[in-house]
Amino acid sequence: MKTDTNAEVRGTTECILPGATIGVMGSGQLGRMMAIEAKKLGYRVKTYSPDADSPTGQVADAEFVGAYEDEASVRAFFNRIDVLTFEFENVPSATVAWAEEVIPVRPAGSILHVCQHRLREKEFLRANGFPCAPFRRVDTDEDLERALLELGRPAVLKTAAFGYDGKGQVKISEGVDARAALAGFKGQTAVLEGWVPFVAEISVMVARGIGGECRVYPVFENVHTHHILDVTVCPGRIPDSSAEAARSLAVSIAERLGLVGVMAVEMFLMADGQVMVNELAPRPHNSGHLTFDASVTSQFEQQVRAACGLPLGCTGLKTGGAAMVNLLGDEWDAGEPDWAGVLGMGDVKVHLYGKLEPRRGRKMGHLTAFGQSAEEARNRVLEARRVLRRE
Ligand code: AMP
Repeated sequence: MKTDTNAEVRGTTECILPGATIGVMGSGQLGRMMAIEAKKLGYRVKTYSPDADSPTGQVADAEFVGAYEDEASVRAFFNRIDVLTFEFENVPSATVAWAEEVIPVRPAGSILHVCQHRLREKEFLRANGFPCAPFRRVDTDEDLERALLELGRPAVLKTAAFGYDGKGQVKISEGVDARAALAGFKGQTAVLEGWVPFVAEISVMVARGIGGECRVYPVFENVHTHHILDVTVCPGRIPDSSAEAARSLAVSIAERLGLVGVMAVEMFLMADGQVMVNELAPRPHNSGHLTFDASVTSQFEQQVRAACGLPLGCTGLKTGGAAMVNLLGDEWDAGEPDWAGVLGMGDVKVHLYGKLEPRRGRKMGHLTAFGQSAEEARNRVLEARRVLRRE
């Protein structure tokens, strides 16, 4: 039985060289793109999740299918990998602790623990003086009434755990029955957040290596439709001073967490140029997909480098600007999209995640385009989507 101290030493200092096996918990598109980058560097990749024939499993060397809580099954997986990383943060803490007994885990379970729960995450941000929206914990109707009095309307009520793409959140405007919204969460702890009158949504991807070195990407500017990311452009069209503030905030958060890995910091940009943190994601992020084609080192390669204890790569864009649009299952509403048309454009990159069923709102793939500026890239990627839609 290895001690915790050993686990700590292994977690912070050990290099895992090409040829070794990277394990990834989760099996979606983030793991798929990480696996592709890992294989370019000569690593083997094994994935673990409850799903078979998954986006990651299709490109990995092996796909383990099981519940995250199944101790025997996850331990068998940990015995077959040299380092563990994540493509999604909602892995139970106990499961991560089992991994930490036997292999380096990057990022550490303690970071996942903070980031998989909105309340813990916001308490971490507030305790360390990182700017975020005012919030209150809500368990009961009385908590809710008090929080609404203190924060006012509109406000946003969110479940503390397992929310993504706007799921598990309700805007509490004038006239909205807040108690009914809370009842809809069926007894789960919630967080009421004050409304943030942002002028833009941005995110910053930061990587931190085992020696503590940080590399930060240019700012991504994000537009959401129905709470799901629609378009990202890079560099974000925001004032230089705000971009610098956002990037240094992301670095400070990564340092404070002691991150080894990559992390997206989603932020709101305010009218006065200040930035405020919305959410942390200690893994590659949808807004960083354009780095796959547009950056010297993609967020996925950076995750491999950080998890394996190797030096981090340059984060610069290879062109003046890049842009990405998500392809949701909705694109299939009118039949098969025009792949030949979009590929015929020549300069647009098409990514599909190997998901067979194009359900509405499901992320099926994305397009990336380039330009001399973010604006030019944005126009090109939107044109590509029109071609895909035969518009
Ligand atoms: P989240 O799941 O917390 O990332 O929220 C999804 C989206 O809801 C964000 O990208 C924002 O567009 C919006 N949103 C979340 N929280 C707030 C807030 N406190 N004020 C205004 N808009 C918000």
